[in-house]
Amino acid sequence: MGLFTKDIKSMEDLYLHVLQDIYYAENQIKKALPDMIEKATNRDLSAAFKAHLGETESQIARLDQAFQLLGKEPKGTTCPAIDGIIKEANEVAGECDNKKVLDAALIAAAQAVEHYEITRYGTMIAWSEELGHDAIAKLLTTNLNEEKAADKKLTTIGEKKVNLRAAG
Ligand code: ZN
Ligand code: FE
Ligand code: FE
Ligand code: FE
Repeated sequence: MGLFTKDIKSMEDLYLHVLQDIYYAENQIKKALPDMIEKATNRDLSAAFKAHLGETESQIARLDQAFQLLGKEPKGTTCPAIDGIIKEANEVAGECDNKKVLDAALIAAAQAVEHYEITRYGTMIAWSEELGHDAIAKLLTTNLNEEKAADKKLTTIGEKKVNLRAAG
């Protein structure tokens, strides 16, 4: 959808637009995670990224199902927010000279990603219920719960392992 053509005329249009936004975001995250797995030095952290890559692939499959339920082709629309979060992550990681500090930077970046996803899924679930897309609400709730669990896991890894060593 273009910036200058006002192509969002109804809640259904807006709903589809945000579904395409999160679809784009999940695909960008899928592309970014292998690099984060490689950069992470803490074992738990790289394992967490690896597990979340697998989850991200399942999440994309659930979004494919959501498009199918709407009778639409799965399609992404550029999300400048996720592009910005990933760009910032790469810039900061590139400036980290210390491996433990790099791990802390990777956790911070990954949690920014999770929080973006959590806000998007939260909105989409509320709109799904409002618009009567109950089956989609269920699919998106599974994705939301995985994002929340991933965020929590990153907090635990950060507190217990990485951040303390980076400070010490
Ligand atoms: Zn648009
Ligand atoms: Fe995700
Ligand atoms: Fe977006
Ligand atoms: Fe995620």
